[in-house]
Amino acid sequence: MSDSYLRLIPTDNRWQPDPGAAAAAASYVTRLFSGPQDDVEEVETEFYDVVTLVDAGENTTRISCPDCDGDIEIDWFLDLVEETGETFGTLDVEVPCCGSVVALDSLRYDWPVGFARFEICVMNPVRAEYELDSAELAEVARLLGHPVAQILAHY
Ligand SMILES: [Zn+2]
Repeated sequence: MSDSYLRLIPTDNRWQPDPGAAAAAASYVTRLFSGPQDDVEEVETEFYDVVTLVDAGENTTRISCPDCDGDIEIDWFLDLVEETGETFGTLDVEVPCCGSVVALDSLRYDWPVGFARFEICVMNPVRAEYELDSAELAEVARLLGHPVAQILAHY
């Protein structure tokens, strides 16, 4: 049986909330998923020292280059992630398609991934639609103190 995750990250990949704001945002998210039909298993906050990949698991199947439009092998990306242990001092890499140096967060992913130093991670959220709507995202952003993006992951 596979697991799904909703991962909420600041849109600025270096930004971190203070711990109180992180806890307030996490408890708001927990309340969103605590209706009678819901059986969310866990809501966690994570702080990362270094910019860290917030991946989408099996959801990401294609990557292409913003410079030359060429396809980038998913294996190239996975190897890179394994080599760096998912942490990145810089997001700039030389891509294999055309040799350009581009930021990892500017590559085009068929399913969004993120890079961040903080995330709220919801394990196995169950709603009719488990993506947060724009009002809910705005409330998370207000509590956290920074705009957020959501990454939907499947493992
Ligand atoms: Zn290229």
